[in-house]
Amino acid sequence: IIRLEGVKKVFHTDEVETHAVADVRCEIPRGQYVCIAGPSGSGKTTLLSLIGLLDTPTAGTYLLDGREVSRLSATQRARVRNERIGFVFQSFNLIGDLTVAENIELPLTYRAMPAAERRRRVESALERVGMSHRARHLPAQLSGGQQQRVAVARAVAGEPLLLLADEPTGNLDSRNGDAVMGLLRELHRSGTTIVMVTHNPEYARQAERTIHLFDGRVVEEGGHA
Ligand code: ATP
Repeated sequence: IIRLEGVKKVFHTDEVETHAVADVRCEIPRGQYVCIAGPSGSGKTTLLSLIGLLDTPTAGTYLLDGREVSRLSATQRARVRNERIGFVFQSFNLIGDLTVAENIELPLTYRAMPAAERRRRVESALERVGMSHRARHLPAQLSGGQQQRVAVARAVAGEPLLLLADEPTGNLDSRNGDAVMGLLRELHRSGTTIVMVTHNPEYARQAERTIHLFDGRVVEEGGHA
């Protein structure tokens, strides 16, 4: 599903050139659960943004389901993202003045989807993460763990083929972290491809494979027993 070849991302700021992703080649088959690990600054978030079409590589090719997507315009990238990619971030990224249900529904409104189908998806996503009783609440009225479950619901309501998670448990205590990881495992079992950045070795082991980055390069790759 994902094939990266010679992918680089260079940032230029105040005459400093940062090779955030130096030269990455990797393939992630459909349905795989992959962890990206590596020290701070090794390029994990940058690589995830490239895979998620939030950014474009400075060089290299990116094939997503056989389609070359590294040179798409911002509008084209947004369309592909909206149709097939779900995101979960460390900081939840919910919109504060929308209710839980509205937050989940919002990305669906950018698709040609009847309102009844949107509502059906919102309800089933809320049920899936155990948050149906909080549909009318605002994000600020929820705990961090609950907010992250809503963020997972927002991602799954789009029925993405690919779920990208950047430190999804970074702001959670271990109980809530475990709950979110349980949701990811469930999504994996139902066929979603998952790429997750985590510093937590125990959570990394729940993935099928870990890609270790160092200075923007893949230094080690391993399957998990
Ligand atoms: P952490 O674990 O601390 O989140 P990371 O492995 O996710 O780190 P990245 O956030 O991908 O690392 O950053 C890789 C390098 O690229 C860093 O040196 C960072 O300073 C640089 N970088 C990332 N984004 C930008 C940007 N928008 N402009 C300039 N430099 C950037």
